[in-house]
Amino acid sequence: CGIFAYLNYRVPRTRKAAFEILIKGLQRLEYRGYDSAGIAVDEDNEKDHKNGGYICLFRSKGKVKALADEIYKQTFLNFDKVFEVHFGIAHTRWATHGIPNEVNSHPQRSDKNNEFVVVHNGIITNYKDLRKCLESKGFEFESETDTEVIPKLTKYMYDNRESEDVRFSTLVERVIQQLEGAFAVVFKSLHFPCEAVAARRGSPLLIGVCSKCKLSTDQIPILYQTYKNINNGCTSKTHQTETEHFKCLHPTGEEKAIEFYFASDASAIIEHTKKVIFLEDDDIAAVANGCLSIHRIERSVGDIKSRAIHTLQME
Ligand code: GLU
Repeated sequence: CGIFAYLNYRVPRTRKAAFEILIKGLQRLEYRGYDSAGIAVDEDNEKDHKNGGYICLFRSKGKVKALADEIYKQTFLNFDKVFEVHFGIAHTRWATHGIPNEVNSHPQRSDKNNEFVVVHNGIITNYKDLRKCLESKGFEFESETDTEVIPKLTKYMYDNRESEDVRFSTLVERVIQQLEGAFAVVFKSLHFPCEAVAARRGSPLLIGVCSKCKLSTDQIPILYQTYKNINNGCTSKTHQTETEHFKCLHPTGEEKAIEFYFASDASAIIEHTKKVIFLEDDDIAAVANGCLSIHRIERSVGDIKSRAIHTLQME
């Protein structure tokens, strides 16, 4: 099982090149074992894009190669089109809940419009309760996975958001507070085009940073959020934490070219960059406007204030 995701920001890539990066990333993770694979990318229809976009989902049982062959057969995809900014997520699955088949493969989705799609490694132990709750609110589940509650809960949070300008990372923070078990997750949404949010607890996840110009920092300060009375309609929790001065990998507004890779292990990233950030349990990493930030919900005594950008020594 493995996660791989790729986001280019001001780095022009053809559709084909972006797919190749995603597929190769999955192939580098094949040694971990898997039974099915999938990829989600943005549709390249300009008109749809302006209306918030459309997310294409490709999933299949079996080899990554079979998935790749299927994708390259799709005539509606314009493989030569160049994307300045683009974000794709990919997954190889080792089934724990639900047999290996197309609909149980990841990315799992919130609804038929693919408003929120998620790749997940691990097991959500309280998925039955969450599923029951979401079903009572009208959600129809299509898979047998534990994972499907994640995109659906995210959509529920989004549909019931308190303010119009809610951040993608805020939604994810609220979702992962409801999850029990082990997970590494990467989220994509048509409501937040070209934004990535990733989180982990118990399963590994790292971020590779490949910058065409010099990185402005080698430390990413951690932002602590303030939330009180989080109520998702299923459970209610109260959190009181401090908010800190917020900085990110490079200040918004700077015209920097940058590429981000998310992966379950370094072997999938090393050919692109040696600069990596290892996420810790309960870190939430978000990329918006080409800018990476790391958030945590609760601060405990002795927490360090930043995550270092490490240089991998392996070849
Ligand atoms: N528990 C999830 C599933 O069965 C994820 C499995 C994995 O880590 O690949 O779909």
